[in-house]
Amino acid sequence: MCFCEKCGSRLTRKVCGPDGLIPYCETCREFRFPTYSSAISVLLYNPNRDKILLIQQYGRSDNILIAGYINKGENAKQTLVREVEEEVGLHVTDYVYNDNEYFEKTNTLMHNYAAAADSENFTLTGEVDRALWVPEAQVLDAMKPGSLARSFAERYLKKKQERRSGGSGPDPVL
Ligand SMILES: [Zn+2]
Repeated sequence: MCFCEKCGSRLTRKVCGPDGLIPYCETCREFRFPTYSSAISVLLYNPNRDKILLIQQYGRSDNILIAGYINKGENAKQTLVREVEEEVGLHVTDYVYNDNEYFEKTNTLMHNYAAAADSENFTLTGEVDRALWVPEAQVLDAMKPGSLARSFAERYLKKKQERRSGGSGPDPVL
């Protein structure tokens, strides 16, 4: 960020307490903290909770997760329920928070959930080219290595595995 979003002046940098150097507008005499978007993505399970829905979008063959930006005024859980309905016509019956990570390419903080749908009978909307239920044990192999979506899936499946083998971490699983 080089210019003030309010007055257009070139920003300098000024120490802002423990936050260190922060972009500063000399004209407005205000700090201009960097902004970013927030979005959700979801490991959507079938009612039996043994398969995850992967989708393909924008004419590409990569298997990805249902995802979408959090609208202004919306909370992340509302976005999760709305995006699942909008993209595949399914209703979320249950969800747990998985993890979050900043994604530099789109300047977005991505919040990932695991959720369960009320049915396997999805309806493709215009936003999605293809969707498929993938058995949980095969889901990592079906996703692009190094992708954030796959990393979220790895983290969640690890927690689930730990829980199955008697561990009791602080994170809930479905
Ligand atoms: Zn300004």
